[in-house]
Amino acid sequence: MINILDLDLVELKCWMKDNGESGFRAKQVSDWIYNDVWKFEDMNNIPKSIQEKLQNNFHIGIPKPIEEHSSKQKDTKKYLFELNDGNLIECVIMKYKHGNSICISTQVGCKMGCKFCASTIGGMIRNLTSGEMLGQIIKSQQLIGERISNVVLMGSGEPFDNYRNVIKFLELVNSKNGLNIGQRHITISTCGIVPKIKEFADLNLQTTLAISLHASTDEIRKKSMPIANKYSIAEIIDISRYYINKTNRRITFEYALVKGLNDSAQDAERLSALLKDMLCHVNLIPVNEIKENELKRSSNEDVAEFKKVLETNNIQTTIRREMGLDINAACGQLRRSYIKSEELK
Ligand code: SAH
Repeated sequence: MINILDLDLVELKCWMKDNGESGFRAKQVSDWIYNDVWKFEDMNNIPKSIQEKLQNNFHIGIPKPIEEHSSKQKDTKKYLFELNDGNLIECVIMKYKHGNSICISTQVGCKMGCKFCASTIGGMIRNLTSGEMLGQIIKSQQLIGERISNVVLMGSGEPFDNYRNVIKFLELVNSKNGLNIGQRHITISTCGIVPKIKEFADLNLQTTLAISLHASTDEIRKKSMPIANKYSIAEIIDISRYYINKTNRRITFEYALVKGLNDSAQDAERLSALLKDMLCHVNLIPVNEIKENELKRSSNEDVAEFKKVLETNNIQTTIRREMGLDINAACGQLRRSYIKSEELK
């Protein structure tokens, strides 16, 4: 059965026509869904006969909340959602003064194997469809009772390992008939799959691209990110410059600081040299420690020193505000702890 959220309005109109119904029914159905009505039988301007046809062909893929965690400051909420097939994903909502941001998952698990990341520990189960990505936002808006205005693809999964569905998701989320979230309010984060960054650049979208660099040499990068065996930092920097030329958009480089691995002043100098004169910005993330490995977060002093070196070299730098540390808000931690507790039962 097809998740109706996977279809855009044109596709749903075609379906209506192919099934002997008027095209305008598509918009009516879509409006119900975006107004939190998720049963075809409750769509009371849709004739019974069409409701039945819809029921026989589609399900409305809104995920089911299994757990909800709120941080003490109430600025972060984390949901564990169950998908139609029973798989679990998580998403995080962050409340900022300028609006609500959501961090969504793009895959169940992840196969990239980054050493510091909890999402990848059990490997990749499957890709999410575009409608499943959208469903996380629709359901979260209903749960918090407020509009979500920013979306980051930084939950579990590697977006560019699920490229086609992610691109379709960007169209769906952008649609005036749907959530109407502008491209500039969406950030895609990738571990650096170079050919996909090229493809993405060629689409010339206004979306923000974030690249998880996390190291200043290939040797160091290989210690925490297996993808570094496939693509070198030089290739990533080249393709980043290509992306910037093509789109005129600033790239964000994410850099998770791990004590003794990549957090020295020398690392900061090397990183500065790599990014010299590039339209970019570095987001430093003191690594979120997880039980499954021995990596330790850098001290606040080392983080501050790292930032100072970058700034002295004219690299715009921010330190990620740490929200939701008390609720396992780092990628994949909640799903992992839930699966483990179920295993113990
Ligand atoms: N696969 C994508 C997006 C998901 S992760 C990517 O690699 O970019 C989003 C960001 O969180 C990435 O920069 C990732 O490296 C980082 N991350 C994952 N686990 C982390 C942890 N324990 N502490 C700090 N950052 C982490």
